[in-house]
Amino acid sequence: MSVIDSLLNFCHTLTDGKQQDMESFKQAAAVYAGEYGIAKLMIETHFRQDAASPNRNDAPIVSRNIVIYEDTDVAALGEPVMQKYMNNSDEYVISYTYPAAGVEFDPQALREIELFSTISYFFFGRLRFGEMIKKGTLTQYMTGLPNSGGYMARAAQILQSGRLFEYDSYYFNIKGFGLVSKKFGFKQGDEMIRQYAHSVAGFADPEEIVAHLGGDNFVALIKKAHYATFVSLLQDVNVTAEKGDKEIPVKLNSTIGIWHIDGAFKELSEIISLPAMAMNAAKNVLHQQICHVSDELLFHISEQKKVLESFPTAIRAKEFTVFYQPKVDSRDNSLAGAEALVRWIHGEEIISPCAFVPILEREGAIKALDLYVLENTCLDIRRWIKAGLSPVTVSVNISRKDLDDHTLPYQICDIIDKYEIDHKYIQIEITETTDEAEHDIMIEFLERLSEMGISTAIDDFGSGYSSLSTLRNFKINTLKIDRSFIDNDVFSRNDEIILSDIIHMATMLGVEVITEGVERKEQLDFMNKVGCYLIQGFYYDKPLAPDAFTERLKIGKYDMSI
Ligand code: C2E
Ligand code: MG
Ligand code: MG
Repeated sequence: MSVIDSLLNFCHTLTDGKQQDMESFKQAAAVYAGEYGIAKLMIETHFRQDAASPNRNDAPIVSRNIVIYEDTDVAALGEPVMQKYMNNSDEYVISYTYPAAGVEFDPQALREIELFSTISYFFFGRLRFGEMIKKGTLTQYMTGLPNSGGYMARAAQILQSGRLFEYDSYYFNIKGFGLVSKKFGFKQGDEMIRQYAHSVAGFADPEEIVAHLGGDNFVALIKKAHYATFVSLLQDVNVTAEKGDKEIPVKLNSTIGIWHIDGAFKELSEIISLPAMAMNAAKNVLHQQICHVSDELLFHISEQKKVLESFPTAIRAKEFTVFYQPKVDSRDNSLAGAEALVRWIHGEEIISPCAFVPILEREGAIKALDLYVLENTCLDIRRWIKAGLSPVTVSVNISRKDLDDHTLPYQICDIIDKYEIDHKYIQIEITETTDEAEHDIMIEFLERLSEMGISTAIDDFGSGYSSLSTLRNFKINTLKIDRSFIDNDVFSRNDEIILSDIIHMATMLGVEVITEGVERKEQLDFMNKVGCYLIQGFYYDKPLAPDAFTERLKIGKYDMSI
């Protein structure tokens, strides 16, 4: 094969994209070297480093020397012919063609040397481009750590080596990073993420992996032996942020999901998905810093998934029924009102709201259910009126998660009006909040309802961090004292003083007080003693199905002598 044929052949391999390896390049070079008495062929490449980075033009130029051919039997080398092939930027390739001592290149050889350096430029440029793409697709551009692709590729190697069970798999998310980033600006936020990534990756030994999925989410495969030290590192990573000309130290800690990789291993993607589920549970359900993958957690998640998947069909199929729990005036045991409490009738099963309300709240799907309950309550009230009964005021629970929608009071009003129900028969119950931002939204919500003549109640008062501002700022009609106040065998003097004062203050402010969860006579007596007479609880009745409640409405009283 002639030199030109050999180079042309090589060019074809470059353009058909089949074989772009060093071997075929070297073969072509060897034919060319043998023909002209070339003793050594070396290529010097000048390309930008880290070409995958978004700031490619700022990356430094890196030069590499690659020996393509060398005839080690030739003792002395002549002066090399240098041929430079240059891009229009400062990236280029120089070929050094050394003749054996005493060999002189003829014009034909010199033209081919020129051709060879041109081809070299394309070949190395392309080789590098391939590397760059590979690196770019496996690396997170901001931190340079592996991204999910890079993580999975390396995890697959560990799996193949049969040593994956020696590792714990982590998914961690920096706590409150949104706020930190807002405080110092997004550029400083990125800088802090880079410092954080550097610290955490610095912990890992060469057989461990820390990867950055993007944003403030990271994953890691760390040996089980390093569990305690890695977890404690994640709870306290120090970074700095610049504010003006000051360097401010910032401590970052993370919410962590951990899976001790074990025999239950099914597929590789679980090294991300399982600890991710645990991290989500830690953050959104358990409100704690660390959660481990366990059978219990997986069961809980699958139940949650079932609820979310079946909810839309269930609501269309009207599988939800409203039960009514009577509220009783304990002075004469008369029926004074009711609370609408939803039940999911799923086949034979009656599912309690505790099993689905919190899930729907977290997923932002609760509003549909709350309005459904309101609508069904209105339907029942209409039925009672039609049957000639005098309805009582029924309170309907509205989730605080619904309040972001400023049109909600009007939607509530529209539903009540659609059934031509007097507004006085509906009360809206909402739990109190300690969150400053929610506080204002809640004031507005309660005021809108009050303007429309719809009464409101604060639910579960005293179960969390109750504050007097609830009484001072919220325009409410009823305060519902949580059962935790009376959930003790002996009533303390402290509870008595606190309750009497709250009830007294509320009454003076024109706010009615009711206690929920009253089960026993002593609890009733205690509440009466501190000045609360409206009672809801098993002592009188459990939540009743609509027909049973209709019967109670007819009687209107409880006979407590039996
Ligand atoms: P809640 O609004 O505080 O309702 C009172 C809960 O206490 C009800 O539980 C009721 O059955 C229960 N209860 C009443 N008396 C007693 C008693 O004497 N002893 C004990 N141990 N419990 C008593 P339920 O019906 O399981 O509802 C639980 C929670 O689910 C409700 O607490 C409310 O937060 C939520 N919920 C129920 N229906 C709805 C709804 O339609 N929408 C929304 N957003 N939440 C709802
Ligand atoms: Mg309630
Ligand atoms: Mg309650």
